[in-house]
Amino acid sequence: MSKVAITKCDSYDQNEVDRAVQQSLELIGGLANIVKPGNKVLLKVNALMGSSPEAAVTTHPSLVTAVIKEVKKCGGIALVGDSPGNASANVRKTMVDTGFKKAADEAGGEVVYFQEAEIFDLLSPSHNKKIKTLRIASKVLDADVIINLPKLKTHNYTLFTGAIKNMFGAVPGFEKAHFHIRAPRPHEFAESLVDILELTKPHLNIMDAVMGMEGHGPTGGSPRKLGIIMASTDPVAMDAVGGHLIGYEPSQIDTTVIANRRGLGESCLDKITIFGTSMEEIKVSDWKLSTDVNRLTRWIPGFMYDLVRPLARQARIDPYIIQDKCTKCLVCVKGCPAKTINYDKERKIVEIDLKDCINCFCCHELCEYKAIKLKRSWLARKLGIGVPGEDE
Ligand code: SF4
Ligand code: SF4
Repeated sequence: MSKVAITKCDSYDQNEVDRAVQQSLELIGGLANIVKPGNKVLLKVNALMGSSPEAAVTTHPSLVTAVIKEVKKCGGIALVGDSPGNASANVRKTMVDTGFKKAADEAGGEVVYFQEAEIFDLLSPSHNKKIKTLRIASKVLDADVIINLPKLKTHNYTLFTGAIKNMFGAVPGFEKAHFHIRAPRPHEFAESLVDILELTKPHLNIMDAVMGMEGHGPTGGSPRKLGIIMASTDPVAMDAVGGHLIGYEPSQIDTTVIANRRGLGESCLDKITIFGTSMEEIKVSDWKLSTDVNRLTRWIPGFMYDLVRPLARQARIDPYIIQDKCTKCLVCVKGCPAKTINYDKERKIVEIDLKDCINCFCCHELCEYKAIKLKRSWLARKLGIGVPGEDE
Protein backbone atom coordinates (compact mmCIF):
# COMPACT_ATOMS: atom_id res chain seq x y z
CA MET A 1 0.00 0.00 0.00
CA SER A 2 1.45 3.36 -1.00
CA LYS A 3 1.55 6.08 1.61
CA VAL A 4 1.18 9.82 1.12
CA ALA A 5 1.58 12.22 4.03
CA ILE A 6 -0.40 15.45 3.86
CA THR A 7 0.60 18.11 6.36
CA LYS A 8 -0.97 21.54 6.64
CA CYS A 9 1.46 24.40 6.16
CA ASP A 10 -0.06 27.83 6.39
CA SER A 11 2.79 29.93 5.00
CA TYR A 12 6.41 29.92 3.90
CA ASP A 13 7.58 31.14 7.29
CA GLN A 14 10.69 29.03 7.84
CA ASN A 15 9.60 27.67 11.21
CA GLU A 16 6.25 26.65 9.77
CA VAL A 17 7.85 24.89 6.78
CA ASP A 18 10.44 23.19 9.01
CA ARG A 19 7.63 21.85 11.20
CA ALA A 20 5.56 20.66 8.24
CA VAL A 21 8.50 18.90 6.60
CA GLN A 22 9.51 17.18 9.84
CA GLN A 23 5.93 16.07 10.45
CA SER A 24 5.51 14.79 6.87
CA LEU A 25 8.71 12.78 7.07
CA GLU A 26 7.76 11.26 10.43
CA LEU A 27 4.39 10.22 8.98
CA ILE A 28 6.04 8.17 6.24
CA GLY A 29 8.63 6.54 8.50
CA GLY A 30 11.42 9.12 8.81
CA LEU A 31 14.26 10.26 6.58
CA ALA A 32 16.90 8.15 8.36
CA ASN A 33 15.46 5.12 6.58
CA ILE A 34 16.38 6.72 3.27
CA VAL A 35 19.47 8.90 3.83
CA LYS A 36 22.55 7.32 5.39
CA PRO A 37 25.65 9.13 6.68
CA GLY A 38 27.91 10.22 3.84
CA ASN A 39 25.24 9.86 1.14
CA LYS A 40 25.27 12.41 -1.69
CA VAL A 41 21.65 13.58 -1.67
CA LEU A 42 20.35 15.49 -4.69
CA LEU A 43 17.43 17.80 -3.98
CA LYS A 44 15.84 18.00 -7.43
CA VAL A 45 14.02 21.32 -7.29
CA ASN A 46 11.75 22.90 -9.88
CA ALA A 47 13.86 25.81 -11.17
CA LEU A 48 11.88 26.33 -14.34
CA MET A 49 12.91 29.96 -14.71
CA GLY A 50 14.49 32.73 -12.70
CA SER A 51 11.28 34.01 -11.18
CA SER A 52 10.81 35.10 -7.58
CA PRO A 53 9.42 32.52 -5.14
CA GLU A 54 6.19 34.53 -4.81
CA ALA A 55 5.31 33.82 -8.46
CA ALA A 56 4.75 30.14 -7.51
CA VAL A 57 6.54 28.93 -10.65
CA THR A 58 9.40 27.28 -8.76
CA THR A 59 9.76 25.25 -5.58
CA HIS A 60 9.84 27.65 -2.65
CA PRO A 61 13.37 28.02 -1.21
CA SER A 62 12.09 27.62 2.36
CA LEU A 63 11.25 24.00 1.49
CA VAL A 64 14.80 23.53 0.22
CA THR A 65 16.16 24.97 3.46
CA ALA A 66 13.98 22.66 5.54
CA VAL A 67 14.96 19.55 3.57
CA ILE A 68 18.68 20.40 3.67
CA LYS A 69 18.43 20.61 7.46
CA GLU A 70 16.80 17.18 7.59
CA VAL A 71 19.38 15.65 5.24
CA LYS A 72 22.18 17.02 7.38
CA LYS A 73 20.61 15.57 10.53
CA CYS A 74 20.96 12.16 8.84
CA GLY A 75 24.61 12.85 7.95
CA GLY A 76 23.94 13.32 4.23
CA ILE A 77 25.57 15.80 1.86
CA ALA A 78 22.86 18.01 0.33
CA LEU A 79 23.18 19.04 -3.32
CA VAL A 80 20.55 21.28 -4.92
CA GLY A 81 20.02 21.19 -8.67
CA ASP A 82 17.86 21.42 -11.78
CA SER A 83 18.31 22.20 -15.45
CA PRO A 84 15.85 24.84 -16.63
CA GLY A 85 14.31 24.39 -20.07
CA ASN A 86 15.80 27.68 -21.11
CA ALA A 87 19.43 26.55 -21.29
CA SER A 88 20.64 29.78 -22.83
CA ALA A 89 19.68 31.71 -19.75
CA ASN A 90 22.28 32.14 -17.10
CA VAL A 91 21.56 29.07 -15.02
CA ARG A 92 23.65 30.44 -12.18
CA LYS A 93 21.49 33.58 -12.17
CA THR A 94 18.36 31.40 -12.21
CA MET A 95 19.52 29.64 -9.06
CA VAL A 96 20.07 33.04 -7.42
CA ASP A 97 16.77 34.61 -8.56
CA THR A 98 14.74 31.62 -7.38
CA GLY A 99 16.36 31.80 -3.94
CA PHE A 100 17.92 28.32 -4.20
CA LYS A 101 21.52 29.54 -3.99
CA LYS A 102 20.86 31.54 -0.82
CA ALA A 103 18.89 28.67 0.71
CA ALA A 104 21.69 26.20 -0.04
CA ASP A 105 24.46 28.51 1.16
CA GLU A 106 22.73 29.34 4.42
CA ALA A 107 21.55 25.83 5.27
CA GLY A 108 24.83 24.11 4.39
CA GLY A 109 24.04 22.62 0.98
CA GLU A 110 25.67 23.09 -2.40
CA VAL A 111 24.09 24.08 -5.72
CA VAL A 112 25.03 21.84 -8.66
CA TYR A 113 24.61 22.70 -12.34
CA PHE A 114 23.50 19.81 -14.52
CA GLN A 115 24.66 21.35 -17.82
CA GLU A 116 28.20 21.80 -16.57
CA ALA A 117 28.90 18.11 -15.97
CA GLU A 118 28.78 14.97 -18.10
CA ILE A 119 25.59 13.93 -19.85
CA PHE A 120 24.80 10.27 -20.53
CA ASP A 121 22.68 8.79 -23.31
CA LEU A 122 20.51 6.05 -21.80
CA LEU A 123 18.25 3.64 -23.60
CA SER A 124 14.53 4.03 -23.10
CA PRO A 125 13.53 1.48 -20.44
CA SER A 126 10.18 1.01 -22.21
CA HIS A 127 11.85 0.52 -25.62
CA ASN A 128 10.03 3.63 -26.79
CA LYS A 129 10.22 3.81 -30.58
CA LYS A 130 9.68 7.58 -30.70
CA ILE A 131 12.48 8.48 -28.30
CA LYS A 132 14.90 5.60 -28.08
CA THR A 133 17.62 7.28 -26.02
CA LEU A 134 17.34 9.89 -23.32
CA ARG A 135 20.05 12.35 -22.33
CA ILE A 136 20.33 12.41 -18.55
CA ALA A 137 22.67 14.59 -16.47
CA SER A 138 25.36 12.71 -14.56
CA LYS A 139 24.68 14.92 -11.53
CA VAL A 140 21.35 13.10 -11.25
CA LEU A 141 22.68 9.61 -11.91
CA ASP A 142 25.64 10.05 -9.53
CA ALA A 143 23.51 10.89 -6.50
CA ASP A 144 23.14 8.20 -3.84
CA VAL A 145 19.70 9.51 -3.00
CA ILE A 146 17.35 11.72 -5.02
CA ILE A 147 14.79 13.79 -3.17
CA ASN A 148 12.35 15.18 -5.70
CA LEU A 149 10.90 18.59 -4.69
CA PRO A 150 8.13 19.40 -7.19
CA LYS A 151 5.70 22.30 -7.14
CA LEU A 152 2.00 21.54 -7.58
CA LYS A 153 0.79 23.32 -10.72
CA THR A 154 -1.55 23.02 -13.64
CA HIS A 155 0.16 22.58 -17.01
CA ASN A 156 -1.16 23.67 -20.39
CA TYR A 157 0.29 20.64 -22.13
CA THR A 158 0.38 17.79 -19.59
CA LEU A 159 -2.54 19.22 -17.54
CA PHE A 160 -0.77 18.64 -14.22
CA THR A 161 2.84 18.93 -13.11
CA GLY A 162 4.00 17.29 -9.93
CA ALA A 163 6.44 14.56 -8.97
CA ILE A 164 6.66 12.69 -12.29
CA LYS A 165 6.96 15.74 -14.54
CA ASN A 166 9.52 17.37 -12.23
CA MET A 167 12.10 14.71 -13.10
CA PHE A 168 12.09 16.04 -16.70
CA GLY A 169 14.71 18.48 -15.39
CA ALA A 170 17.19 15.57 -15.40
CA VAL A 171 17.34 16.18 -19.16
CA PRO A 172 19.61 19.17 -19.71
CA GLY A 173 18.25 22.50 -21.01
CA PHE A 174 17.02 22.74 -24.58
CA GLU A 175 17.36 18.96 -25.05
CA LYS A 176 13.87 18.88 -23.60
CA ALA A 177 12.38 20.68 -26.59
CA HIS A 178 13.41 17.83 -28.91
CA PHE A 179 11.01 15.54 -27.09
CA HIS A 180 8.10 17.49 -28.55
CA ILE A 181 9.30 16.96 -32.10
CA ARG A 182 9.95 13.27 -31.69
CA ALA A 183 6.83 12.60 -29.60
CA PRO A 184 4.40 15.32 -30.72
CA ARG A 185 1.23 13.97 -29.11
CA PRO A 186 0.78 14.51 -25.37
CA HIS A 187 0.43 10.83 -24.47
CA GLU A 188 3.57 10.01 -26.49
CA PHE A 189 5.42 12.80 -24.69
CA ALA A 190 4.13 11.41 -21.37
CA GLU A 191 5.63 7.98 -22.17
CA SER A 192 9.05 9.63 -22.28
CA LEU A 193 8.45 11.56 -19.07
CA VAL A 194 7.76 8.22 -17.43
CA ASP A 195 10.95 6.82 -19.00
CA ILE A 196 12.86 9.58 -17.22
CA LEU A 197 11.12 8.75 -13.95
CA GLU A 198 12.07 5.10 -14.42
CA LEU A 199 15.71 5.93 -15.18
CA THR A 200 16.13 8.34 -12.27
CA LYS A 201 13.86 6.72 -9.65
CA PRO A 202 13.62 9.40 -6.96
CA HIS A 203 13.81 7.83 -3.50
CA LEU A 204 11.55 10.40 -1.91
CA ASN A 205 9.17 13.11 -3.12
CA ILE A 206 8.24 16.18 -1.08
CA MET A 207 5.75 18.41 -2.84
CA ASP A 208 5.45 22.14 -2.34
CA ALA A 209 1.70 22.71 -2.39
CA VAL A 210 1.61 25.58 0.07
CA MET A 211 1.11 27.91 -2.88
CA GLY A 212 0.35 26.10 -6.12
CA MET A 213 -0.56 27.45 -9.54
CA GLU A 214 -3.89 27.42 -11.34
CA GLY A 215 -4.82 28.35 -14.90
CA HIS A 216 -2.10 28.69 -17.51
CA GLY A 217 0.61 26.75 -15.70
CA PRO A 218 3.42 25.97 -15.47
CA THR A 219 4.57 29.61 -15.73
CA GLY A 220 1.70 31.81 -16.89
CA GLY A 221 -0.97 30.90 -14.35
CA SER A 222 -1.92 32.45 -11.03
CA PRO A 223 -0.55 31.48 -7.62
CA ARG A 224 -3.18 29.88 -5.42
CA LYS A 225 -2.96 28.63 -1.87
CA LEU A 226 -3.55 24.97 -1.09
CA GLY A 227 -1.71 25.18 2.24
CA ILE A 228 -0.05 21.76 2.39
CA ILE A 229 3.23 19.91 2.03
CA MET A 230 3.07 16.29 0.90
CA ALA A 231 5.65 13.51 1.23
CA SER A 232 5.78 10.05 -0.31
CA THR A 233 8.26 7.53 -1.62
CA ASP A 234 5.76 6.86 -4.42
CA PRO A 235 5.73 9.65 -7.05
CA VAL A 236 2.72 8.16 -8.83
CA ALA A 237 0.63 8.11 -5.66
CA MET A 238 1.74 11.63 -4.86
CA ASP A 239 0.60 12.89 -8.27
CA ALA A 240 -2.67 10.96 -8.05
CA VAL A 241 -3.41 12.64 -4.72
CA GLY A 242 -2.09 16.08 -5.72
CA GLY A 243 -4.13 16.10 -8.93
CA HIS A 244 -7.24 14.89 -7.11
CA LEU A 245 -6.96 17.70 -4.57
CA ILE A 246 -7.30 20.31 -7.32
CA GLY A 247 -9.97 18.51 -9.36
CA TYR A 248 -8.30 15.99 -11.66
CA GLU A 249 -8.96 12.29 -11.45
CA PRO A 250 -5.82 10.14 -11.84
CA SER A 251 -7.22 8.67 -15.08
CA GLN A 252 -7.08 12.13 -16.70
CA ILE A 253 -3.33 12.57 -16.27
CA ASP A 254 -1.27 10.64 -18.84
CA THR A 255 1.89 10.48 -16.74
CA THR A 256 -0.01 9.04 -13.76
CA VAL A 257 -1.79 6.44 -15.88
CA ILE A 258 1.34 5.36 -17.76
CA ALA A 259 3.59 5.22 -14.68
CA ASN A 260 1.02 3.08 -12.88
CA ARG A 261 0.64 0.80 -15.90
CA ARG A 262 4.41 0.28 -15.86
CA GLY A 263 4.38 -0.66 -12.17
CA LEU A 264 6.17 2.48 -10.97
CA GLY A 265 3.60 3.39 -8.36
CA GLU A 266 -0.03 3.44 -7.31
CA SER A 267 -2.63 5.61 -9.05
CA CYS A 268 -5.81 4.23 -7.51
CA LEU A 269 -6.87 6.57 -4.71
CA ASP A 270 -8.58 3.71 -2.83
CA LYS A 271 -5.24 1.90 -2.60
CA ILE A 272 -3.29 4.90 -1.27
CA THR A 273 -3.11 5.41 2.49
CA ILE A 274 -3.21 9.04 3.52
CA PHE A 275 -1.41 9.99 6.72
CA GLY A 276 -2.03 13.34 8.41
CA THR A 277 -4.73 15.57 6.98
CA SER A 278 -7.49 13.93 4.96
CA MET A 279 -8.00 14.68 1.28
CA GLU A 280 -11.59 15.74 1.99
CA GLU A 281 -10.34 18.51 4.25
CA ILE A 282 -8.08 19.98 1.57
CA LYS A 283 -9.78 19.26 -1.76
CA VAL A 284 -10.92 22.33 -3.70
CA SER A 285 -13.68 22.34 -6.29
CA ASP A 286 -12.90 25.52 -8.22
CA TRP A 287 -9.21 25.28 -9.08
CA LYS A 288 -8.82 26.72 -12.57
CA LEU A 289 -7.80 23.69 -14.61
CA SER A 290 -6.50 23.21 -18.11
CA THR A 291 -8.47 20.79 -20.26
CA ASP A 292 -6.77 18.51 -22.69
CA VAL A 293 -6.19 20.36 -25.95
CA ASN A 294 -5.68 17.07 -27.70
CA ARG A 295 -8.59 15.17 -26.27
CA LEU A 296 -10.23 14.96 -29.70
CA THR A 297 -7.33 13.04 -31.14
CA ARG A 298 -5.70 11.17 -28.28
CA TRP A 299 -7.41 7.85 -28.95
CA ILE A 300 -6.81 7.92 -32.69
CA PRO A 301 -4.11 5.44 -33.69
CA GLY A 302 -0.92 6.86 -35.19
CA PHE A 303 -1.56 5.58 -38.70
CA MET A 304 -4.86 7.51 -38.86
CA TYR A 305 -3.68 10.60 -37.02
CA ASP A 306 -2.29 12.45 -40.06
CA LEU A 307 -5.62 12.04 -41.85
CA VAL A 308 -7.72 13.65 -39.14
CA ARG A 309 -5.13 16.16 -38.03
CA PRO A 310 -6.34 19.06 -40.22
CA LEU A 311 -9.85 18.65 -38.81
CA ALA A 312 -8.66 18.34 -35.23
CA ARG A 313 -6.57 21.45 -35.64
CA GLN A 314 -9.75 23.47 -36.03
CA ALA A 315 -10.04 23.14 -32.25
CA ARG A 316 -6.58 24.47 -31.74
CA ILE A 317 -4.91 26.75 -29.25
CA ASP A 318 -2.29 29.02 -30.75
CA PRO A 319 0.47 31.05 -29.17
CA TYR A 320 0.71 34.74 -30.01
CA ILE A 321 3.18 37.42 -29.04
CA ILE A 322 2.28 40.69 -27.35
CA GLN A 323 4.88 42.85 -29.06
CA ASP A 324 4.83 45.58 -26.39
CA LYS A 325 5.97 43.07 -23.79
CA CYS A 326 8.56 41.31 -25.94
CA THR A 327 12.15 42.19 -24.98
CA LYS A 328 13.63 40.33 -27.99
CA CYS A 329 15.52 38.03 -25.64
CA LEU A 330 15.05 35.33 -28.32
CA VAL A 331 14.63 32.55 -25.78
CA CYS A 332 11.46 31.40 -27.53
CA VAL A 333 13.27 31.45 -30.90
CA LYS A 334 15.95 29.11 -29.53
CA GLY A 335 13.52 27.00 -27.56
CA CYS A 336 10.86 26.35 -30.21
CA PRO A 337 11.27 22.68 -31.20
CA ALA A 338 9.53 23.27 -34.54
CA LYS A 339 11.80 26.25 -35.34
CA THR A 340 8.76 28.26 -36.24
CA ILE A 341 9.51 31.42 -34.26
CA ASN A 342 11.71 33.92 -36.05
CA TYR A 343 13.31 37.27 -35.38
CA ASP A 344 12.82 39.71 -38.24
CA LYS A 345 15.92 41.87 -37.96
CA GLU A 346 14.66 44.58 -40.29
CA ARG A 347 11.33 45.05 -38.55
CA LYS A 348 12.88 44.19 -35.19
CA ILE A 349 10.02 41.91 -34.16
CA VAL A 350 9.70 38.29 -33.10
CA GLU A 351 7.00 36.40 -35.02
CA ILE A 352 5.41 32.95 -34.89
CA ASP A 353 4.67 31.16 -38.14
CA LEU A 354 1.70 29.08 -37.04
CA LYS A 355 1.64 26.78 -40.03
CA ASP A 356 4.49 24.70 -38.56
CA CYS A 357 3.48 25.09 -34.91
CA ILE A 358 3.01 21.77 -33.11
CA ASN A 359 1.19 23.40 -30.18
CA CYS A 360 3.65 22.24 -27.58
CA PHE A 361 3.42 25.59 -25.70
CA CYS A 362 7.15 25.56 -24.91
CA CYS A 363 7.31 29.24 -25.95
CA HIS A 364 4.50 30.15 -23.55
CA GLU A 365 6.34 28.29 -20.81
CA LEU A 366 9.77 29.75 -21.57
CA CYS A 367 8.91 33.45 -21.92
CA GLU A 368 9.90 35.11 -18.65
CA TYR A 369 8.22 38.35 -19.70
CA LYS A 370 4.74 36.90 -20.18
CA ALA A 371 4.83 38.23 -23.74
CA ILE A 372 3.40 35.00 -25.19
CA LYS A 373 -0.26 34.24 -24.66
CA LEU A 374 -2.52 31.44 -25.86
CA LYS A 375 -5.53 32.07 -28.06
CA ARG A 376 -8.22 29.42 -28.46
CA SER A 377 -9.97 28.96 -31.77
CA TRP A 378 -13.72 29.42 -31.94
CA LEU A 379 -14.20 25.63 -31.90
CA ALA A 380 -11.84 25.13 -28.95
CA ARG A 381 -13.82 27.69 -26.97
CA LYS A 382 -17.10 25.99 -27.92
CA LEU A 383 -15.74 22.60 -26.85
CA GLY A 384 -14.35 23.97 -23.60
CA ILE A 385 -10.78 23.06 -24.50
CA GLY A 386 -7.90 24.92 -22.90
CA VAL A 387 -8.02 27.64 -20.26
CA PRO A 388 -10.10 30.79 -20.72
CA GLY A 389 -8.41 34.09 -20.05
CA GLU A 390 -5.80 34.75 -22.72
CA ASP A 391 -8.14 34.69 -25.71
CA GLU A 392 -8.16 38.42 -26.50
S1 SF4 B 1 8.30 36.57 -26.82
FE1 SF4 B 1 9.24 36.37 -24.80
S2 SF4 B 1 10.78 34.77 -25.01
FE2 SF4 B 1 10.22 35.44 -27.09
S3 SF4 B 1 11.74 37.03 -27.59
FE3 SF4 B 1 9.96 38.07 -26.75
S4 SF4 B 1 10.40 38.27 -24.55
FE4 SF4 B 1 11.83 36.73 -25.36
S1 SF4 C 1 5.53 28.29 -31.64
FE1 SF4 C 1 5.43 27.74 -29.47
S2 SF4 C 1 3.76 26.23 -29.38
FE2 SF4 C 1 4.37 26.39 -31.53
S3 SF4 C 1 5.89 24.77 -31.82
FE3 SF4 C 1 7.02 26.67 -31.30
S4 SF4 C 1 7.29 26.55 -29.08
FE4 SF4 C 1 5.69 25.06 -29.62
